[in-house]
Order: sequence, then C-alpha cells, then structure tokens
Amino acid sequence: MHDSHIHISMSPLKENIESDIQEFLDCKGRKILTQTTDITDYQETIDMYTSLSKKFPDTLQLALGIHPSRFEEGIAKNSIEELDIFQYSQKQYDLFEEIFNNNLDNISAIGECGLDYYGMNEYNQYSQTEQEQLKEIQRRIFSKLCSLAALHKLPMSIHARGVKGDNSCEKDVLAIVAKEGKGTLRGSFHSYTGDKKMLEKILDLGMYIGFNAIITYPSGENVREILKLTPLDRILFETDGPFLPTQSVRKKKNSKKKYGRPVLIKEIIEKACEIKNIPYEKMENVTDQNYLCLFSKTDI
Ligand SMILES: [Zn+2]
Repeated sequence: MHDSHIHISMSPLKENIESDIQEFLDCKGRKILTQTTDITDYQETIDMYTSLSKKFPDTLQLALGIHPSRFEEGIAKNSIEELDIFQYSQKQYDLFEEIFNNNLDNISAIGECGLDYYGMNEYNQYSQTEQEQLKEIQRRIFSKLCSLAALHKLPMSIHARGVKGDNSCEKDVLAIVAKEGKGTLRGSFHSYTGDKKMLEKILDLGMYIGFNAIITYPSGENVREILKLTPLDRILFETDGPFLPTQSVRKKKNSKKKYGRPVLIKEIIEKACEIKNIPYEKMENVTDQNYLCLFSKTDI
C-alpha cells in the first residue's frame, strides 16, 4: 500500500512521524508522498524528508507546491507588506521557484497545487472583487506550476475544489492542464469530490483519482459513487494526513491518535474493496503499480 498525499510536517503528524512510518511499514506499506503548501512548510518538510530518508530508505517522496488557498493570506498581509495581492502572490511564487530549483534532485512531484473556489466563499469574508482577484491569482500561479511540471516532466498532485453545484473550478483546472501541458501532464486529482461529468473529462486526460477516508464516512456517498465509476488502473489512495482520520478512528472515543496517518490506508483500501467488490490483494497490487507508474522517477 502507498499514501499518495500527506503533510508530514503538520502537527500532530510531525511529532509522531517516526512511529507512524514504522507502523505503516510493519503493515507492508511501501511509499509515502509528502506534500507541501507554501513557504511556511517547505524547509521543515525538506529537512524531515532528508533525515527520515536515512532511517527509512526508499519510503518517502517529496512534492513541492503552493496550495491555492494560501493566496487568501495576501489580502490579510496586504496592508502590512504594502504589496497588492498580485504582487504578494508573485513573491510567493518566486520564493517557491528558488527553493524548487535548489532541491530539484529530491523532488518527485509538484504538489499540492490547483484551484480552490470553495474556501474563499465559506465565511463571506471576501468581497466579490476580492474573490475574482483570488481566482485570477490562483489560475495564474497554477498555470506557472503546470508549465514547470511539463518542463521538468514531473507529475502533479492536484487540488480542485469548487462550490457545490458549480463545476467552474474543475473546468478551469482542466483548461489550464490542457493548455500548459499540451497532453503531456500527468497527475492525481487528490480528494476529488466533484461531479461525474467532470470525472469523465479528468479520466480522458489520463489522470488518476486519489481516494481517502471520505469513502469510509457515512456522508461520503458522492465520493463512493465516484469510486465506482473510476477504473481500477486510475485509482490511488491517500490519507491527506493529519486531516481526515478514517471512520473507525473518528468513532473510537479513547483512541490516542485521532489524526490521519499512513497506516489508515489499510482501512481505506478495505472500504474501497467492498465498494468495488474486488479482493484486497488485487486492489493493493494494482493501485501500488498505479502509484509507481505515476510517481516513480525511474519511469520518466
Ligand atoms: Zn493536502
């Protein structure tokens, strides 16, 4: 089994990461792809990746990216740094690119990255104009990240989350991937919760879909439907840890570890097997191959 999307430098994962990786390996876990979100976690994640790779060789892989929701901070910081949000986001990108170029040998993917039109809508905290600006910034930066991925032939871990009932976010992601990648970009749509029509288009582009503990939740019916429609050779598993603990962890009142961690992939695979009516071993073997096919450097 593999974990194709996790954030190892976020608490409480980072404090427990050695025992969490060991527990994953003890259950025949193979690969873990850790993601980054912005300048605040690059260096810490790279340092953890470097030291943990000595202890657990051939287990961890590193993705460097900019989470689309991070630009919202630009509005808050605006008055402090005297940059408008376009200048602020460009500065974030420049810092990202510098760290990316300095660590290119260790980078297996660009992630996480993409578009998020959901978060900015949540608490009505941004004006219509600000929302349009944020979307434009997200699209500009995601375009840059796609062209960087195409240039270096790196796969991507893509976040695409729109407002319910409106698939303009997924449409914009696909348009940018098609334009910048010219058919060459490869990647995983992590934690995809969009509609079935867009799923078809994502699969048409040759992309994979990352499934996590949402399929174990009573409220996860729409994602279970997406899983039913996703062919076996396009399925990946992920925890998105420390977020999204599985349903059994959420239910256990006195469990010490209440967060998403790599070993929970086992429960996610078990649930996926039930949904797809496939034996565990087959599901694990095929999806591990999918992971290696997409994220293994030797395949490029
Ligand atoms: Zn994530």
